Amino acid sequence: MTPAFVTVPWAPTSRRRPRTALDRPRLRAALQTPSTALVRFPALAPERFRHPVDVAATRALSSVLGLELVVSGFLRMAESVLELENMSTGVEVSPKQLPKLHASLSRACEILDISPVPTLYVRQSPVPNAYTLAFRGRAPCIVVHTSLLELLSPEETYAVLAHELGHLKCEHGLWMTAANLLVNLMPREMSEAMSGYILRWSRAAELTCDRASLLATQDARVVMSMMMKLTGGTKKYADDMDVDEFVAQAEKFDFLSSQGPFGRAVRNAMILASTHPLPVHRARELKRWADSNHFRSILAGGKPYDDEERKILT
Ligand SMILES: [Zn+2]
Repeated sequence: MTPAFVTVPWAPTSRRRPRTALDRPRLRAALQTPSTALVRFPALAPERFRHPVDVAATRALSSVLGLELVVSGFLRMAESVLELENMSTGVEVSPKQLPKLHASLSRACEILDISPVPTLYVRQSPVPNAYTLAFRGRAPCIVVHTSLLELLSPEETYAVLAHELGHLKCEHGLWMTAANLLVNLMPREMSEAMSGYILRWSRAAELTCDRASLLATQDARVVMSMMMKLTGGTKKYADDMDVDEFVAQAEKFDFLSSQGPFGRAVRNAMILASTHPLPVHRARELKRWADSNHFRSILAGGKPYDDEERKILT
């Protein structure tokens, strides 16, 4: 999530929060034991949950002749550097190294039907962030920063991992990496030429992956809480935060930023300069989808873990 790379609860005692069957304790239980209350989605196709804005933006990006060639050429130069950098400066997560984190990633892969489980690195950084690197012909990897693990609960960290897996599921690799490099590393002239298309696509792709996060957590409050904390959370005041208030901020922001040409110009400038949608808009968009028949129908088609599978997992 730096501004750069990818990315991606709750107020435990919120008065307005209706406790549903798909609430945090179930997710917590599912992450701690194999006898999960969650359902999984065998043969889940990305088209099943892709955000319509993502569909349109991907179509628009693909229609720009030559853009993919230019981006591929640039990435060939950068990919080896990034891959080796993560391998040499991060801790690789495995069943023996940070096993709880590895189990969490594996669980999200099971639910979202992703195989094999990608490599996960933890890197020391004061910026709470996570991102995915997926180059053609190379094994993909996910990177999370230590400060993100410090800030978020295990359930919220799981939501971040699921968001990152959404990028793999939807094969966002090429364009996503391009968008990230665009902000950080690309020469200014090149980034200006490509930024309009790629950043628009990137923002749309994030909305799709927020949906992947919801499919894996099956609890919108976990995902929205993760967004809220990555926007302005602290560990010290984590229990004092209110997801509903955060979602309500979107309406306030929309109202204030629509007052006159200056407000609209500021809002547009903020949106257009970022690889990610504005955090309040992401939370609101996620909530809308969580309340939709579309999400409910996917959830209803999910497959519970059967007894035999539980035995194997145990
Ligand atoms: Zn993302």
